Amino acid sequence: GGGVNASEPTPVRLRPEIAALPPYRQGRPAPADGFKLSSNENPHDPLPSVRDAVAATAASINRYPDATALALREVLAERFGVTADEVLVGAGSVSLLAALIQAAAGAGDEVVYSWRSFEAYPGLVTVSGATSVQVPNRADHGHELDDLAAAVTDRTRVVIVCSPNNPTGVIVTADEFDAFMAKVPSDRLVLLDEAYVEFVRDGASVDGRALIGRHPNLVILRTFSKAYGLAGLRVGYAIGPVPILDAARATLVPLSVTAASTAAAIASLEPAAERELLARVDVIVERRDRLADALRADGWPIPQAQGNFLWLPTGDATDPTAEALWSAGVVARPFAGDGIRVSVGEEASVDAVVNALKPLAPGRP
Ligand code: PMP
Repeated sequence: GGGVNASEPTPVRLRPEIAALPPYRQGRPAPADGFKLSSNENPHDPLPSVRDAVAATAASINRYPDATALALREVLAERFGVTADEVLVGAGSVSLLAALIQAAAGAGDEVVYSWRSFEAYPGLVTVSGATSVQVPNRADHGHELDDLAAAVTDRTRVVIVCSPNNPTGVIVTADEFDAFMAKVPSDRLVLLDEAYVEFVRDGASVDGRALIGRHPNLVILRTFSKAYGLAGLRVGYAIGPVPILDAARATLVPLSVTAASTAAAIASLEPAAERELLARVDVIVERRDRLADALRADGWPIPQAQGNFLWLPTGDATDPTAEALWSAGVVARPFAGDGIRVSVGEEASVDAVVNALKPLAPGRP
């Protein structure tokens, strides 16, 4: 070390708002016999057919991938009843969020979203040059869409809605979303982030699939990272109007989706593979509901949980509660002074979480 590479102040004029951004936070590694419940990952091992599809791509890693991921877009287009042009594939849906925000918002513009929500939104907005406007969630930890619509000003270029919301787990209903879309001017981009949609079992929930083609300003975002268990391969997709996706594509880093990633996604959508993957989602949903019930029985005020995670509104007790989980080998995601997000993991993690939290349980009211 040392010399000009040492971590002393740089003479280079960096963008101050970028240099001040906190780095993306990843949970600490779990202890050997513990549980990593900090990133809403899928606890199941990859399917053999998916591993085989990835392995088969190794023979051509000297070649660049198809820049537009056409093969995957065609499979997705068919299942959503759209053309391949209406699908954009990215290195995780987070890269698509970044691209879509940058396509519509820049310096002097506002991007509006509820808070608390997905941790990445503030940083992505800052990188675009725009300003975040955060609208508080309801007391039940769901989005207040009336307030969200009311926060749209002349400067607003993008509104983000996350359902189920990370980290609180609460959905937006289809009726709430329809009323919201009726209030937002159609020249403002609305992003519906449905990273956890496959875990939803509330029939009243908004479903982006039912909205396709109904709004000229709506793009839905989904991912293979959660229900499909491909977080490590980074593949997500957006469905929406072609001109919006074309603009977003122009801001994407070219060639960032690898052949291994698209091969894994396509293999995951093969009927037999997908049946197995969705059966696993059912297992996670059952586990989620069982965990939520057990914690509620201990007095924890767990809000509606429709993703593959639960929200513990621990407020000032966040640090000691996260520490109790950590001591029991459970790595969760604390949000200082607010709450703790716990992913639904392996079967044994259910009892581990319930037992670790028992000594701190509020008790039945
Ligand atoms: N949206 C939400 C709400 C998320 O929670 C996440 C992942 N934590 C993402 C998008 C991004 O997921 P990925 O980039 O892995 O597709």
